[in-house]
Amino acid sequence: MLVIGGGHAGCEAALAAVRMGAQVTLVSMADDNLGRMSCNPAVGGISKGHLVYEIEALGGAMPYITDRVAIQYRLLNRRKGSVVWGLRAQVDRMAYEREMTAFIKQTAGLEVVAGEVVDIELGGGGRKRAVLDGGSSIDCRAIVLATGTFLNALMYRGDEVWEGGRAGEGASQQLVSFLSEQGFRIGRLKTGTPPRVKRDSLDYSRMKPQPGETGMLTFTFGKPVKEQIDCYLANTNEQVHEIIKDNLDRSPLYQGKIEGVGPRYCPSIEDKVVRFGDKPSHQIFVEPEGRESDLCYLNGISSSLPQDVQERYLRKIPGFEEAEVTLYGYAVEYDFCDPRQLRSTLESMVVEGLYFAGQINGTSGYEEAGAQGLVAGANAASNALGGKRGELRIGREEGYTGVMIDDLVVKGTEEPYRMFTSRAEYRLGLSQYSARLRLTGKAYQMGLVDEGRMDEVRKLEERVPGEIRRLRETRIKGTDEEQLQGYSLEEVLRRPQYNYSDLRGVMQGINLSEDPLVQILVEEEVKYAGYRRRMERELEKLREMERERIGGVDFYQVEGISTEGREKLKGVQPENLRQAAEIPGIRPSEIMALMIHMKHRRGA
Ligand SMILES: Cc1cc2nc3c(=O)[nH]c(=O)nc-3n(C[C@H](O)[C@H](O)[C@H](O)COP(=O)(O)OP(=O)(O)OC[C@H]3O[C@@H](n4cnc5c(N)ncnc54)[C@H](O)[C@@H]3O)c2cc1C
Repeated sequence: MLVIGGGHAGCEAALAAVRMGAQVTLVSMADDNLGRMSCNPAVGGISKGHLVYEIEALGGAMPYITDRVAIQYRLLNRRKGSVVWGLRAQVDRMAYEREMTAFIKQTAGLEVVAGEVVDIELGGGGRKRAVLDGGSSIDCRAIVLATGTFLNALMYRGDEVWEGGRAGEGASQQLVSFLSEQGFRIGRLKTGTPPRVKRDSLDYSRMKPQPGETGMLTFTFGKPVKEQIDCYLANTNEQVHEIIKDNLDRSPLYQGKIEGVGPRYCPSIEDKVVRFGDKPSHQIFVEPEGRESDLCYLNGISSSLPQDVQERYLRKIPGFEEAEVTLYGYAVEYDFCDPRQLRSTLESMVVEGLYFAGQINGTSGYEEAGAQGLVAGANAASNALGGKRGELRIGREEGYTGVMIDDLVVKGTEEPYRMFTSRAEYRLGLSQYSARLRLTGKAYQMGLVDEGRMDEVRKLEERVPGEIRRLRETRIKGTDEEQLQGYSLEEVLRRPQYNYSDLRGVMQGINLSEDPLVQILVEEEVKYAGYRRRMERELEKLREMERERIGGVDFYQVEGISTEGREKLKGVQPENLRQAAEIPGIRPSEIMALMIHMKHRRGA
């Protein structure tokens, strides 16, 4: 099996495949920067934290490397219920890629080759041959394509335009010809990155410190490092905005040079100044790039304005008067493939045995890439091993990974796609802490995790209901809080104002679990029990629709579907009725027509 690309998607894909017993070659432009963090030195956050925990539950590497090299942790969204808390770790950027590279290189069964894949030749019987720039080639059965922002990539800063997938690295120009010839629909997207500055050139007395937090679980269920490094909060002001407005005509975005669509939720500073013209100030998170690093990343002010403009406005930010810039912001515009040409296994519908993962599918972010890489890698490995291991498919109700993949393959994307909790309609059942309970069983069946890990999860599966049973059987007596007298601890915990840790205060001498993971899971289970029962009923209907497989239907033969509807269905080729119903623009009456057609076909 071959993985093309050594970014977050490629690394998880290759490692997953090796865990399943495949012989894997990973080809990447360079072999010393695997898992490079091309943008912010952080992993996780709201909803992205969920993806990292899901990668952990599926046996992936990102959570382990992150916890080894983290320099700060924060638990975001704490004002809401724990099901939507998101852990975010600030990491040492260079240490991350060093550790990931070392981990991959020491993995038996995984060979790393430095080079550019310029073409893929398709042979008979599903055989494939990847051709490298030097003329050498690699034969394989299945390929995961994880080339990130590199396809036909152009970088922009003011009037400067140059080829390259990221700062200091070349673009991949030739592979797109293969993809277009095969009939893949190619689109164009863009993203940007902010300037990096010398850490000791800033005046931190003019900024607000953002210290790390302790006392929560890390991605691998340990404790956060004690010595955490502060980040800082700075702000732009009217003077900064004036300089930006005066120079908009020098921005490649506003000159119309960039055609690709950028992320609306993560706009550049020039976009923010234009779109939110009445805001006097925008926040900048000043993030150290590592323990030893002398650099800071300026989260919130990505820009493609010319160097001299970036230099001028930076100096107007309080604390940045003497800032020494080591890399100016730039935008990158790149090709991506329409993910609606993929199945939920991330295998393409165009070329059998060719899987896609990461930014090439129109997503943005390390976590999104890593989670897709794992799914694509597992399925490609199973394919390469002759299909023995089955398929890894994750439902929308089973994980954020499932939500993301389903959104991509059914609805596609017109801007860089990132995860949000609001995308997950069953989010009350998808806490980051329950990822192992939701997904490790599947991972075990595929051979992605070993018996030891599965045993740990089996124990957790027993401990949570056991603990709930105990709370249900314990009736409160001898309490100062009269109104709780006679109620069970479970009934108390169901009330919004009580947390698991409050139960000790409710009744003296009770024996409660000391395990923080069990505590959170019990609390979620009790508080959301009613919701989960309702969700189960709703899901039953959806599962029924999912059982209606659509394979082989000629949509042009189905009466009662408009020409537009037929084209949409043909473009997406939904795998089942539920997916068909979710395609934007498909009407309920058209789903009904499809159902009737399928019944007739079955002779019912
Ligand atoms: C300038 C910039 C700004 C960004 N800004 C943000 C942001 O603000 N927020 C955010 O969430 N994300 C941002 N990202 C995106 C983030 O870096 C990616 O989402 C993430 O790294 C994608 O992971 P990936 O594995 O898909 O690809 P990448 O990490 O890009 O890795 C691609 C890999 O493929 C290899 N490769 C490419 N073509 C070939 C080929 N033909 N042959 C062999 N190897 C090949 C490359 O060497 C590289 O190892 C930004 C990226 C860039 C470049």
